[in-house]
Amino acid sequence: MKVRVEDIPPEGLEVEFEDARMQARDLGPQVAGLAGAPWAQVYLERRGSLVLARGRYQAQVELECSRCLQRFAQKLAGGLDWAFRPPDTPRGEEVRLAEDELEVIFYQGGEVDLAQALKDELSLSLPMAPLCRPDCPGLCPVCGKDQQGGPCGCRPKQTDPRWAKLAKLE
Ligand SMILES: [Zn+2]
Ligand SMILES: [Zn+2]
Repeated sequence: MKVRVEDIPPEGLEVEFEDARMQARDLGPQVAGLAGAPWAQVYLERRGSLVLARGRYQAQVELECSRCLQRFAQKLAGGLDWAFRPPDTPRGEEVRLAEDELEVIFYQGGEVDLAQALKDELSLSLPMAPLCRPDCPGLCPVCGKDQQGGPCGCRPKQTDPRWAKLAKLE
């Protein structure tokens, strides 16, 4: 989804789009799948050579739990606040951007790439180490069984007393 900057009227432009071409692997190694196309709605406004975009997004991804390796569905949703700028932004506008603390994205060829910006937004919103639930017990270190269905019966390993102190800290 790209929008030509010159097509944005003075009063602004509302854009709603879905990116059906986005692939799970584009978002990160922890993403196992995408359920449906990620969606976004943004309001575009021109400020000199800048294009400001405010709106919201939503996507449904399937993540792999970093402890038990089970896949689980996760909804991603939130607000968007982007500032697109050409590589040669005039000095005065640089200052204003720094004050606003918007997410700055470069644009080239006279058009802003909303699909690319959405993909980056989604990637950044993903947890580095996803958990299917906050207290996921993970896999048994002895037999590898998923502990969610109950303990597998393996005896816990004898703890070396020298490590016991460290274990308590966890
Ligand atoms: Zn898990
Ligand atoms: Zn076990």
